Amino acid sequence: MFWNREIECMPREQMRQLQGQRLVALVKYVYDHVPFYRKKMDDLGLQPGDIRSIDDITKLPFTTKQDLRDNYPFGLQAAPADRIVRIHASSGTTGNPTIVGYTRKDIEVWAECVSRCLTAAHMDKNDRFSVSYGYGLFTGGLGLHYGVENIGAAVIPASTGNTEKHLKLMRDLQITGTAATPSYMLYLAETMDKLGISKDELALKSAVCGAEPWTEEMRQEIQNRMGLKMYNIYGLSEVVGPGVSYECDCQHGSHICEDHYYPEIINPYTLQPLPYGESGELVFTTLTKEGMPVLRYRTRDICSLIDGTCECGRTNIRMSNILGRSDDMLIIRGINVFPSQIESVILSLEEFEPRYMIVVDRVNNLDTIQVQVEVRKEFYSTDTVVELSLKKKLAGKLQSVIAIKADVKIMAPGSIERYQGKSVRVIDNRQIKNKFVK
Ligand code: ADP
Ligand code: ZN
Repeated sequence: MFWNREIECMPREQMRQLQGQRLVALVKYVYDHVPFYRKKMDDLGLQPGDIRSIDDITKLPFTTKQDLRDNYPFGLQAAPADRIVRIHASSGTTGNPTIVGYTRKDIEVWAECVSRCLTAAHMDKNDRFSVSYGYGLFTGGLGLHYGVENIGAAVIPASTGNTEKHLKLMRDLQITGTAATPSYMLYLAETMDKLGISKDELALKSAVCGAEPWTEEMRQEIQNRMGLKMYNIYGLSEVVGPGVSYECDCQHGSHICEDHYYPEIINPYTLQPLPYGESGELVFTTLTKEGMPVLRYRTRDICSLIDGTCECGRTNIRMSNILGRSDDMLIIRGINVFPSQIESVILSLEEFEPRYMIVVDRVNNLDTIQVQVEVRKEFYSTDTVVELSLKKKLAGKLQSVIAIKADVKIMAPGSIERYQGKSVRVIDNRQIKNKFVK
């Protein structure tokens, strides 16, 4: 049930000492190798020697997504090029994508953390495990893949798409575990119904799910339909990828691999640290990373931290489910979308006005997105054939550019509300219910 009992059940004082030693080494390392951090620390009048224990972490500067973009592509990389063995890139939305380089040791540490997660989800070397996260620049596919190999289970690199073939393999190979976004799990369940495959024909025991927020209702629905137990896995590329935290059987928060990723919760407005139990913005410091370590990286994810020994025996701090993000990014069925991307698509077509409204909702546990958009006068018609062709054109372009299937609603010129100040362009009707944070 434990992959690394010593670390996962380490007494608090001992953990803080370990974190302190690692932080001291990290600060010296980034000060010497990353001009960006050296400057930030110099500006604060801070020397590496000022950091002596984990308590000193609050003296250090924060890092934001914008810092990563401004230093594109390799500005924050600490290790020399000859030690980097892999590079991932996160979506790249409004501007430059975020580039993250990993050394061999970084990949090993990542696999170790994913192994803890898989073991907590009762997977071991006897299991056959399919990875239905996308393989590619996204960290999900390869992140899980290396973890599965590390525990000695047989990995089936199914990736996304190919859903029917994947289900056939699940049945024929008697696959016992899988990793996917909760939305994709639901899609798998729907496809099972379509193909007439019953859960009794499958041997699935556990699913490790994350990359997007999900509800308890969604968990129940999928567990019932697929006859397995679902475990949360959380992570982000800027820190490492999936495996930063994971659920145990108690499912009262996700245990953070805090020997590698030190968590803090801050008030996103005052930037002051908040105590355990209070919701705020989650911040991580990568204590052992070599390729692209980050000091106090602001995730923009809102949650709280839970301390104390868990009923499972683990002492590692837990984080509650993510309530939402503090910025404007939308996560639709596991895909990150910025309203500005939708705007770019709309504006690339001559038929549409830059007047639009994005309505996001969750229907039967699946995210839906409607893009209401005004048509330019010269193209506007009440003829349904014209309307349909406009709809198709925009929906097709949206899908090809941002991989989102949106319902397009054609609006008459001038019908979308105008604002004097800032426009409201997104209505998000989803409510991420959370059982831990009120
Ligand atoms: P990108 O999609 O930008 O390439 P990531 O895949 O690294 O980047 O996305 C990380 C983000 O996904 C997190 O900051 C968080 O908002 C969301 N996320 C990941 N795992 C979970 C989870 N288990 N629950 C809720 N949100 C999650
Ligand atoms: Zn636990």
